[in-house]
Amino acid sequence: MNYDTYGSNAVELAIDLANAERDDPKWATAFLGAHAEWFEPAASFDLSADGSRQAERTADLIRAVAVAGSQAEVIDRLNALLALASPQPYATDHDGELHLHYARPDVPVLEQLTTTVAMGLSQVVVQHGWQRLGVCSAEGCDDVYVDTSRNASRRYCSNTCASRSTVAAYRARRKEEDPAAAHRSQAPGGTLERGRDGAAEARGLR
Ligand SMILES: [Zn+2]
Ligand SMILES: [Zn+2]
Repeated sequence: MNYDTYGSNAVELAIDLANAERDDPKWATAFLGAHAEWFEPAASFDLSADGSRQAERTADLIRAVAVAGSQAEVIDRLNALLALASPQPYATDHDGELHLHYARPDVPVLEQLTTTVAMGLSQVVVQHGWQRLGVCSAEGCDDVYVDTSRNASRRYCSNTCASRSTVAAYRARRKEEDPAAAHRSQAPGGTLERGRDGAAEARGLR
């Protein structure tokens, strides 16, 4: 899958926003601060209550796009998100390479954020398909992700969730494949015959 760097960063920013913890009333300001590299050094990240609500709505819409189950749903939700954006293409070589940004650096940070994530997410969906977006399959995690793997095989939001699930699946399989262990633990004073079978099975597995 070939992304341009800016576009792929923009969609990762969108995913980060959708997954951001919102327990703290100042969460949106904290989010902007944690992604300060997107903005001018002098930018202010202080948001009004109204601004926070707008960031919340944007985050909700990104999530809604990612969890959508049909193309019609995706189009609806994507268009609701795009309605919040005001793209103003802006050419720059700030990182040494000439490229386009979706938003100008001199508009308020919240407007830059909204526009960048809406455009970034839309680009990926129209170029690579909405199936590239998904929800983490790990138990107890409902973070969303964008799948940039070559064969579209991603199932987890992070390596942490992937390895946690691999370990859990391995343990579950071991339990199933080693009924001898279950016999032994369920029937401590079991018949001699069963005990022998269990021991044989256990040896075979080791
Ligand atoms: Zn750039
Ligand atoms: Zn996860």
